[in-house]
Amino acid sequence: GNALLSSYGTTIFEVMSRLSEEHGAINLGQGFPDDRGPADVLQTAADALLTGWNQYPSMMGTPDLRQALAGHARRFYGLEIDWKTETMVTSGATEALTACLLGLINPGDEVVLFQPMYDSYLPIVRLAGGVPRFVSLKAPDWSFSRADLEAAFSPRTKLVLINDPLNPAAKVFGREELELIAEYVQRFDALAVCDEVYEHLVFDGRRHIPLMTLPGMRDRCLKIGSAGKTFSLTGWKVGYVTAPPHLLQPVAKAHQFLTFTTPPNLQAAVAYGLGKEEGYFTALADGLQAKRDRLSAGLRSAGFDVLPGAGTYFVVADISRFGFDGDDQAFCRWLVAEAKVAAIPVSAFFVENAPTTVVRFCFSKKDEVLDEAIARLHKRF
Ligand code: PMP
Ligand code: GLN
Repeated sequence: GNALLSSYGTTIFEVMSRLSEEHGAINLGQGFPDDRGPADVLQTAADALLTGWNQYPSMMGTPDLRQALAGHARRFYGLEIDWKTETMVTSGATEALTACLLGLINPGDEVVLFQPMYDSYLPIVRLAGGVPRFVSLKAPDWSFSRADLEAAFSPRTKLVLINDPLNPAAKVFGREELELIAEYVQRFDALAVCDEVYEHLVFDGRRHIPLMTLPGMRDRCLKIGSAGKTFSLTGWKVGYVTAPPHLLQPVAKAHQFLTFTTPPNLQAAVAYGLGKEEGYFTALADGLQAKRDRLSAGLRSAGFDVLPGAGTYFVVADISRFGFDGDDQAFCRWLVAEAKVAAIPVSAFFVENAPTTVVRFCFSKKDEVLDEAIARLHKRF
């Protein structure tokens, strides 16, 4: 096989989900909700499947969904987006990320990546011939400094890839942090690929700020979203990119040879969903916030040191006090087999200077499932 791709093992999410099944564990590893998703969105997809068009839609996405994306950007962020030239639908945010990186990077270009980072970023940066430069965020607040950016950016920087809200750390970047990133992107005449799949999963009354909305950034950012997260339907794999025409065009070149298009009935349902009233989006965040609090309290009562989290499906917890010799992978293997609860070792999101005593738990599960997981942990700790 391809030498670069062959050098990677199987993604940690698949590994832990399979182990979880084998051990009959509660799967708080891979991030996905365990409910059916919004009934009206499902019904819209079903209707479109049975009565609508089921042949290839336009490679850029269906007009309905692209118009809905522009409407969503105006409603939530005050962004004026031309749906015809500035939106594209992809088969999941994973494809959006891949198309952005393959479409924009030339061999030798430097790419600034923040660690911890989602596991698909680095392999694709490397496939595209990009040279990674890392900024390591520091627990417990996953902070970074001007000096960190100074060390990572250079005249060869093509783009920075930022995931906000951040999986797995549950960090939501503050305005000053975004301003600092924007300053460096502009100073080095670079671009920003913004993985904002958790844009609606932000808690405690905070609001997500797209980097694209900062002064000087409108024409330097590619904003990526995912219906999987916004509608709790992760299996659908409907994603989208919003970007100025000169950045979207090269990304569309990659997309046309990756998946070309995305199922039209799902696009119809996501178009409908993006137009739902404000109450849907606040209920989504409020419901998940309550689950974050439920799982965090349970983990604390079982002896875990839970780090603060402001968004996403995840909480991270420090396991130093349980021993395991600073080996989060060994801890997770033990936990799934013995306590029958699956979690994800956070070191999997790093390539260098990884913390080894932090693990990630997913809380987008029914309350009784969270409670049972906590009971199992109590039995062991
Ligand atoms: N980026 C991040 C940070 C994610 O957590 C995920 C979800 N696993 C994705 C991208 C991929 O999203 P999708 O399922 O829409 O491809
Ligand atoms: N994004 C999800 C997570 O972080 C899972 C995605 C996947 O399985 N690749 O757990």
